[in-house]
Amino acid sequence: MELKGKCAIVTGGTRGIGRAVALMLAREGCNVAINYRKSDKEAKEIVEEIKKMGRDALAVKADVSSYEDAQKMFEKVLETFGHLDILVNNAGINWDGVIWKMSEEQFDTVIATNLKGCFIYNKLAAGHFKDRRYGKIVNISSINGLRGKFGQTNYSASKGGEIALTKSLAKELGKFNVNVNCICPGMVMTEMAQKIPQQFLDTATDETVLGRLAESDDVANVVVFLCSEKSRHITGEVIKVDGGQYI
Ligand code: NDP
Repeated sequence: MELKGKCAIVTGGTRGIGRAVALMLAREGCNVAINYRKSDKEAKEIVEEIKKMGRDALAVKADVSSYEDAQKMFEKVLETFGHLDILVNNAGINWDGVIWKMSEEQFDTVIATNLKGCFIYNKLAAGHFKDRRYGKIVNISSINGLRGKFGQTNYSASKGGEIALTKSLAKELGKFNVNVNCICPGMVMTEMAQKIPQQFLDTATDETVLGRLAESDDVANVVVFLCSEKSRHITGEVIKVDGGQYI
């Protein structure tokens, strides 16, 4: 087991990529805390699944855009696990529309969840990791944060912001032995993607050079690598996991 005894927070861990990451980290030996906003039942199920593997697990209902919720979550995690080694900042939403039809609320909600949420969790983890002279942060951005996407000015801006935050924080935390990296998935077959009309999924598939869309585990595998000592000399990096969708 690559990560035996490590303790991790995975934001948005009730389904999709976050769920896959939480389970894979647990399989590798981590105690895992997840948060979520709505899915109580799914949160309970994943805690049970992780505990069955013999690890400690915790689910906290905490909106990532709330600083107060995040502080409470960190307190609870530190009280339960004693320390923290890994943050996977994964929770994210989209609320698409062309900019001339996009409301202020639509823009603010996506930025608050994806970018401000990233800031809050990275900030709280950074303070702890800096003191311990150890830590791994993985932010889940998107290829649309690199290339932009029609109908996603809000989402793409939030994801581009996560990439810039990652690079800046890597510079701030390097001397404290903390790695900060970012993954940019292409289209991944999660609930978020299942809401997308088939014709757009077909286009995304055609854009890849591998001719297929990712499963959540394709992303989780890279997260585990970035949380392990195998990647100890990688920081400030942006890794696409997109089957060549954006080359
Ligand atoms: P899903 O919609 O499947 O899951 C999102 C998770 O985040 C859920 O657990 C949800 O829980 C939680 N969540 C949403 N809003 C909040 C909030 N405000 N506070 C706390 N938790 C919240 O998403 P994916 O797994 O598809 O995506 C995960 C990440 O990967 C996102 O950042 C997304 O932008 C990124 N990504 C996804 C791609 C894809 O094709 N799926 C492609 C590229 C990037 P609940 O519903 O209970 O709130």
